[in-house]
Amino acid sequence: MKLLIPVKRVIDYNVKVRVKSDGTGVETSNVKMSMNPFDEISVEEAVRMKEAGTAEEVIAVSLGVAQCQETIRTALAMGADRGIHVASDEELEPLAVAKMLKALVDKESPDLVILGKQAIDDDANQTGQMLAALLGWPQATFVSELELNDGTVKAVREIDGGLETIEVNLPAIVTVDLRLNEPRYASLPNIMKAKKKPIDELTPDDLGVDITPRIETLTVEEPASREAGVMVETVAELVDKLKNEARVI
Ligand code: AMP
Repeated sequence: MKLLIPVKRVIDYNVKVRVKSDGTGVETSNVKMSMNPFDEISVEEAVRMKEAGTAEEVIAVSLGVAQCQETIRTALAMGADRGIHVASDEELEPLAVAKMLKALVDKESPDLVILGKQAIDDDANQTGQMLAALLGWPQATFVSELELNDGTVKAVREIDGGLETIEVNLPAIVTVDLRLNEPRYASLPNIMKAKKKPIDELTPDDLGVDITPRIETLTVEEPASREAGVMVETVAELVDKLKNEARVI
């Protein structure tokens, strides 16, 4: 069983994101970047499958600028076996990423691709679903429990009304939610070992994918700043303000 795990390099979740002064995007220079938190969860799940003997090989793949190699190294230090970096300085939209992942799936023939449910930078929540559609594979999205069986995977999904359990045939696409597991920290010896693991270098051209953007960003703006709150003395005063000032009840 072979697993392909896409890992995206994003602004660290602890950083307060700032809009660039010219409104063309958000500030990324001199900003701490890390692996998308949902992707840490998919790497963890894949490494656990390897440790349990159900998976033989875990491949971490990242698409984007040269520094994505650091993100791949983090996945290798957590236990992935090898990496693939598709190098591009252009902004990559989910459809372009899904097309390149499809080309990699055609090349590597994994049994399962485990993605994050969304990347915390663009919050698109599209890549896994698009990849499943392009491949014609079944998908289990927003997964909080995963069980590999013979030729199938059973998944518990977090949906609006509660939890849904489904079983899909392999090969399949899974996108993971927060509650699936708690990712490990890479130990120092494993960080050292990861330096020796191989990372293949490719380009979008090698994969035959046109990455020309289809979306034009007109402007990016900060959200309106919130007004200061007021302390109320009594519940009656609160109700009065909600009724007569905020007019929400
Ligand atoms: P999105 O559809 O952008 O919210 O991303 C969903 C998931 O797709 C992420 O959690 C990653 O697993 C994967 N993904 C998206 N963009 C990339 C990228 N540039 N490199 C690697 N994985 C990606």
